[in-house]
Amino acid sequence: MSEDTIFGKIVRGEAPADIVFQDDRVTAFRDITPQAPTHILIVPNKAIATVNDVKPEDEETLGHMFVVAARLAEEEGIADDGYRLIVNCNRDGGQIVFHLHMHLLGGRPIGRMVAR
Ligand code: AMP
Repeated sequence: MSEDTIFGKIVRGEAPADIVFQDDRVTAFRDITPQAPTHILIVPNKAIATVNDVKPEDEETLGHMFVVAARLAEEEGIADDGYRLIVNCNRDGGQIVFHLHMHLLGGRPIGRMVAR
């Protein structure tokens, strides 16, 4: 079992967040420090710490995160222009919150894929 994080508290309704989607597998909410006009975090309700901790039984939930991302991109009106999905892992990936999450960024050109 992963350690609890702020995202676990948001999933359980124990911490405030601007939740835009929630079902039995995933929760999506607006990033508190948005890096683009649309910046939504999509997280599994199950506390998986990092991509390194993903197990075969998580496949359905992780696939569902993409389905939710596509739906939210459509709702945000950014699907046609495009957007970026990012999952950071550990130190070199720039992960700060150790509850796996997918960033959905759009609403402007997001720029280079990686910093030089
Ligand atoms: P990462 O670097 O991939 O771990 O990204 C963590 C993201 O979580 C950052 O973009 C933060 O701005 C965001 N974040 C941290 N705390 C909160 C919070 N309470 N509500 C919404 N977003 C948060």
